[in-house]
Amino acid sequence: MFGMVVDMREALDLLDLATDAVAMHDPHALTLSDLRDGILSLQQHIDRVKGIHARLVAAGDSAGVWQGQAKRDMADWLSSLTKTSYGDAASRVRLGEAMGASPELADAVTAGEVTAATAEALHDAVTQPVPNADPSELIDSVKGAGPTEARKAAATFREVHTKETPEEAAGRRYQKRSVRSGPAEDGMVATTVTLPELESRQFHQVISFIGGKPSECDGRTTEQRLADGLIQLCAAYASGAVTGGRERPTILITIDADSFTGHTDEPGVTAYGDRIPAHIVRHMAEQANLQRLLHVGGMILDLGREVRYATEAQYRALLARDGGCRVEGCHIPGAWCDADHLIAWEDGGSTDLQNLVLLCRHHHIEKHRPGVTVTGDGNDFTIRLANGTILRCPPRGIIQPGQQRRPGQAAA
Ligand SMILES: [Zn+2]
Repeated sequence: MFGMVVDMREALDLLDLATDAVAMHDPHALTLSDLRDGILSLQQHIDRVKGIHARLVAAGDSAGVWQGQAKRDMADWLSSLTKTSYGDAASRVRLGEAMGASPELADAVTAGEVTAATAEALHDAVTQPVPNADPSELIDSVKGAGPTEARKAAATFREVHTKETPEEAAGRRYQKRSVRSGPAEDGMVATTVTLPELESRQFHQVISFIGGKPSECDGRTTEQRLADGLIQLCAAYASGAVTGGRERPTILITIDADSFTGHTDEPGVTAYGDRIPAHIVRHMAEQANLQRLLHVGGMILDLGREVRYATEAQYRALLARDGGCRVEGCHIPGAWCDADHLIAWEDGGSTDLQNLVLLCRHHHIEKHRPGVTVTGDGNDFTIRLANGTILRCPPRGIIQPGQQRRPGQAAA
């Protein structure tokens, strides 16, 4: 800067002046080589300026420039005052965080060696660094690389420098699952869904199926079709048509044999604990599949020989005993749970009720993490997480160990 020391205001004025000078050139009057040069150089300037901007944004964020102004975060403040998009502003905040976390990365961006997009792709790698690994190695390797390559390089770097097993890696990635909605704009809200690959594929297949196949008479874009599928799926759930899948054709009602035959009038109980008057159960049973269920002291002994090994039948028995996810305090109903083998089938665990429990997807995944141990059996067990936390898992269904009920069950 010619040895001048200028303050921030003067520096910004100089930038204005330089920008005006560049803007004075009529693009159509430029030679092909000037045009090429202009396009590429300006892109580099844009990136460098983005980098400088990002560092200011990060500093402003930690200084709290946006606080007390009815904004929910830095990106919200920046986007509403500059009228840029929230996404753009959030991306600038991420770039600033990345540069703030790694001086090497900040230097590389400021020097024009790493683009803003590439630096942003390293956000997680530098803000949650691998212990005992030198990130400058990674930053060097992405000079001249695009964001996709940088993301791959960061993943490889993490793999090489950590002793994490594939299961641990999968667990770490799973932590990133999210559904995030931005602010309403023009009455619309952009929601970003981040899912593991497999679930994402299923998500797309499901909403694509519900949204309908594209056809000649269908003017919708693919994105609109998928959006319609998602909207319809949510509407179906709200109307009670989506029940979690497995119990759909079945309402499980357990009732004493005496009440069922009309000798007494003890109400039946559904898998969710709703009490259904005996006469209604009897009425429903006229069109129901009946299933004998023998249990002693709450221990389900038999579901009838012909269905003993049928998954669906065992699942219904699990619904009766577990009610829902077995983890105490978890409210996920049984229909949305997985039937899990306490001792894995591969490890010799049997497919019987002593060894089967209902767990919601979240707790199922927690249980299968490395370092997790399980004590007990299907009647009562505890899960000890790797960090020492104990999750109690008593049954919470209608038939519980120790409870005396007479056999007899109607499934309507
Ligand atoms: Zn759960």
